[in-house]
Amino acid sequence: MPISSRSQRAALDVLLQLTAQLTDDRPLEDFLKAVTEATLDLLHADHASIRLLDTTRTSLLSGARSGTGEEDRPMDFKRGEGVLGWVVEHGQPARIGDVEHDSRWVRAEGQQSFSVRSIIAEPLWSSGEVIGVLSVTNPVANAFGDEEQLMLRLLANCSAPPIERARLRRLAMFDDTTMAFNHRYLTPRLVEEMERASRSSGDVSLLYMDLDHFKSVNDNHGHAVGDVVLRMFADRVRRVVRRIDVLVRRGGEEFVLIMPATGATQAHATGHRIQQTLHGEPVELEGNLRLRQTVSIGVATWDKRETPDQLERRADEAMYEAKRLGRDRVVVATPRDVVG
Ligand code: GH3
Ligand code: MG
Ligand code: MG
Repeated sequence: MPISSRSQRAALDVLLQLTAQLTDDRPLEDFLKAVTEATLDLLHADHASIRLLDTTRTSLLSGARSGTGEEDRPMDFKRGEGVLGWVVEHGQPARIGDVEHDSRWVRAEGQQSFSVRSIIAEPLWSSGEVIGVLSVTNPVANAFGDEEQLMLRLLANCSAPPIERARLRRLAMFDDTTMAFNHRYLTPRLVEEMERASRSSGDVSLLYMDLDHFKSVNDNHGHAVGDVVLRMFADRVRRVVRRIDVLVRRGGEEFVLIMPATGATQAHATGHRIQQTLHGEPVELEGNLRLRQTVSIGVATWDKRETPDQLERRADEAMYEAKRLGRDRVVVATPRDVVG
């Protein structure tokens, strides 16, 4: 049986192109997509997917998918759950000729728009640990043989180390406690957004946010509870902003929201929404403890001439003004000409 549905020469071309792509310094998503596309191209499959363990190593998150059903919302799997969870848990490949007769298979109730009879899967190994799983499926039973399994292993083996490097690069940008971007990311991303705004004659706004009396949360309830409050804050902000808005933890209990394509009015409204979500529900803590947390917010919109530093300073000063005026409020920055 030919390994690939393509000629040997065409298969080599796909592999060469993939391995060349994987040596680039590209974002994680690009790597994952390149791998599932090449996998689909090389095997008799109608769907290829990569799942990666999350940072707690308990959930298998969907990384990329190609082929039939690639637009579907992926299911969440726990480690150990389903065929893919089994592969990750045991660090062993799987080949199932007919999922109807395999107890590991978890039927996706109403979720999967494509049918699956055969599946093969290979663990992704990096530094002696399984970091995820690469798999392909086919609607026909017994679609995959030994050679296809080996081809999948080759693809898994050559893609795991670059995927892990890209994943670590990505993690290094995040703050562990809140999963907001860390402070190192702030200025480079702001510069990027200002450049984009210049090209498109658009706006960029910044919210500087500092939690009110946060020291007393730590003092009264301990640092661990303080961390829970920080996490809750970041989660609530993410819930009320757009996907394109970038949340950065500047340090301690101070956060910045970079808002691309946003003028002063809309930024001010977002600041209010963030306050409303805090006013709406107290933070629920262990032992029936409920905490009300407020935030002071400074808003500044880029005046198209100032430097990133100047813009940040205006947002910061507006935030301090909100503190001075009694906290728990949004203050819009004074234009730079007046500030001097
Ligand atoms: P204000 O309303 O003026 O902002 O008062 P505040 O108490 O929030 O301000 P202050 O800057 O004095 O205190 C910030 C506190 O944030 C002090 C520090 O213990 C706490 N903090 C900083 N980073 C962390 C963290 O990572 N976890 C926890 N739990 N607390 C942190
Ligand atoms: Mg502070
Ligand atoms: Mg504070």
